[in-house]
Amino acid sequence: MTTPLTLFNSLTRSLETFTPVYPGEARVYTCGPTVYNYPHIGNMRAYVFADVLGRVLSFKGYKLSHVINITDVGHLTDDADAGEDKMERMAAREAKSIWAIAEHYTQAYWADIRALNIRQPMEWSVATNYVPAMIAFAERIAPNHCYELESGLYFDVASVADYGRLARAHTEEGEGRIEAVEGKRNAADFAIWRKTPPGETRQMEWDSPWGRGAPGWHLECSVMSGQLLGFPFDIHTGGIDHREIHHPNEIAQNQAFCCTGGLDVAANSGARLWMHNNFLVERSGKMSKSSGEFLRLQLLIDRGYHPLAYRLMCLQAQYRSELEFSWEGLGAALIRLKRLVMAVEQLRARLNDEGGAVAQGVEPGAAFQPLRQAFEAALSEDLNTPVALTVLEQVVALKKVDLAQKLAVIAQMDAVLGLDLLALARADLRLTPKAAEITAEEIETVLAARRQARADKDFARSDALRDELAARGVEVMDGDPLGWDWRLNA
Ligand code: AMP
Ligand code: ZN
Repeated sequence: MTTPLTLFNSLTRSLETFTPVYPGEARVYTCGPTVYNYPHIGNMRAYVFADVLGRVLSFKGYKLSHVINITDVGHLTDDADAGEDKMERMAAREAKSIWAIAEHYTQAYWADIRALNIRQPMEWSVATNYVPAMIAFAERIAPNHCYELESGLYFDVASVADYGRLARAHTEEGEGRIEAVEGKRNAADFAIWRKTPPGETRQMEWDSPWGRGAPGWHLECSVMSGQLLGFPFDIHTGGIDHREIHHPNEIAQNQAFCCTGGLDVAANSGARLWMHNNFLVERSGKMSKSSGEFLRLQLLIDRGYHPLAYRLMCLQAQYRSELEFSWEGLGAALIRLKRLVMAVEQLRARLNDEGGAVAQGVEPGAAFQPLRQAFEAALSEDLNTPVALTVLEQVVALKKVDLAQKLAVIAQMDAVLGLDLLALARADLRLTPKAAEITAEEIETVLAARRQARADKDFARSDALRDELAARGVEVMDGDPLGWDWRLNA
């Protein structure tokens, strides 16, 4: 391993060479989902990004400690202080307990995590398990950095140096969304503890020195990251929206907790590197959870797209670029994945025929060196996955090389990209759209009859069978170069 790993730090706005706080280790915290609804595929891009980061760190030989949190309390309908608690609102709408809502949507999120081949982190930290620690944290910073109002305990952003340095859109527009609470010293001050209004009871509330209530969302991440990884840890990740309010507020709290209040990035912002993935965008606005049918991973699966095609689609863009979602783009990613899977399947079959062993313990020879270096160099340059993918394809295309070694190199590269190439089979990639009124078995039966008709030179019957399939939404693809002999159009 030669190329040093460089990563873009949103806080210093520059590419930095990764130097771990603890030699040989990498400690990473990822802001996880608020489990009040299903995640959309844009949310999942954030976790694919964090997964690739973790896999690259492992590939580079660091011992990875990764924490992803589950927010089950405290996140309001606006990232700043306005609005209702997202969990409370959904519980009321679905007439369920918050705990039941959290359980259901956490399971749904984990199903997407598994389907996208995202590795399990060291810890899924659940916010409600850390409330006493949050109260202790708040007690420590309150005397010098907070003030109490009727509605809660507020953080005074003027009490720390350089508040909001991370934010880009730190403008009137950003501040316009911040709730005007009477008595706030600065517009950007935020609640770290929200008191339950007199006469009300909330489903989730705890006693605190500031009365019964619930912790603020920003406080949760400071506490869980500090407690599980220790300040300062190496890398904090999230989507770019978090760069504007959530992470500046976490940083302010971390500065306060680290006592100096200054902003010596390495020492007291909590993490050395703050990394943010850009958004997945969709022109028709289907991404939004508030619009009826939104883009969930399950919708992609229901339409017959394998979830790993979506993972591949994410990898085709560098994480700091915006990525536009389209069904055509997803279809192209599926075909690209299928080419890779078929090539690896053939390679394994040939190795088998030759009695060769699959992967384990095979040392790749010099013929692979340039491509292995190119692969590592691409990922070392701020996780350039689009280039890494093309390098993988170049390895797959190599001729006249040792097959076992070739498979070993593919396995090493796939361990970083996570496309599951050694386990997937071509047949796994064909999912039947949910709306289809015909099963794969029925299609195969009709196709077998059609093949027989053609063998018998009964072309009228063969055409009739083809038309019958077409009427049921099945396109017959004779001579498809990818060997896809039919396709169901959803
Ligand atoms: P939430 O559950 O709303 O807290 O969001 C979970 C993660 O998804 C956060 O890291 C967000 O920054 C990120 N995120 C939200 N929308 C998108 C999007 N369209 N594309 C990429 N990441 C997103
Ligand atoms: Zn967070």
